[in-house]
Amino acid sequence: MTHDQRQQVYRKAIDQYGEALQLTVAIEEMAECQKELCKFIRGNGNTDNLAEEVADVLIMMEQVMYIFGIDDAVNRETNRKVERLENRITKHKRECTPPVAPDFLCELEEEYA
Ligand SMILES: [Mg+2]
Repeated sequence: MTHDQRQQVYRKAIDQYGEALQLTVAIEEMAECQKELCKFIRGNGNTDNLAEEVADVLIMMEQVMYIFGIDDAVNRETNRKVERLENRITKHKRECTPPVAPDFLCELEEEYA
């Protein structure tokens, strides 16, 4: 499905259900995705379920972008932030600083092992 085809579907969904409901669904989908990620931290994640929830979030975020007309701004910010991340990684490597250990994950792994 092309970008334009998806935009048409989003327009129909927003017309039918309204912006407020679609924004509410966006928030719900983010929570569902958070729940799936938490399952991985707790040691019982499922990649099929995670893929489904990530897809739901992406679909709803595209609708958020459509509703607010922020496609270009989001693309600009995404590029800027990925470049910033790359610079941080490069700087981090140069300084030979060990990565920050996710202590809370290690503790959880030990607790639930
Ligand atoms: Mg969902």
